[in-house]
Amino acid sequence: MSATIEIPERSGTAFRLSHGETLTVIDPRGRQVADLLAFNAEDIDEVISSGRTLDYAETIFLTTGHLLYSNRSRPMLEIVADTVGRHDFLLTPCSYDTFHHFYPDMPPHRGCFGNLAAALEPYGVAPDRIPVAFNCFMNVPVDATTGKLSVLPPISKAGDHIVFRAAMDLVIGLTACSAPASNGGSFKPIHYRIDSAR
Ligand SMILES: [Zn+2]
Repeated sequence: MSATIEIPERSGTAFRLSHGETLTVIDPRGRQVADLLAFNAEDIDEVISSGRTLDYAETIFLTTGHLLYSNRSRPMLEIVADTVGRHDFLLTPCSYDTFHHFYPDMPPHRGCFGNLAAALEPYGVAPDRIPVAFNCFMNVPVDATTGKLSVLPPISKAGDHIVFRAAMDLVIGLTACSAPASNGGSFKPIHYRIDSAR
């Protein structure tokens, strides 16, 4: 088993994930969101797609056994384990503008968007290429009648995790989310681990 790496609170990182490797995203303290992006390592025009994925899954609640598809309808990641069962794939990464919109009285933060843009810049990903992220552990219930979205604290507990297997060679962006409502009002680190293909 590989070493566990920490993403400090309100920050982000990017790294390669090879075809067949697994990425384990861990919530070490509980109630902390991690935004995940994936790009084809050989062609960053191919990118993770919320719209394709939700269409093919026929649900907005993705968990073990679901595939995360690219904009070209190819599987990028498969969820192979999940101890939480509640994640979000509707909302874009939090950003300066999110803070201005929802938290005008708080000091703004560049958020997951700014953290992802900085981490992915060495891989040639410009900020305008950043799509809807797969938001690990984010709890966004939808009222079935009105369609109203709520952002509630994650239901994840300390040590909960989700495991993805790469279906192609990928560049991954991953954060410890910076938005108050998504994380139960406090900011915690995220841990991750990469394990080789078995
Ligand atoms: Zn965020």
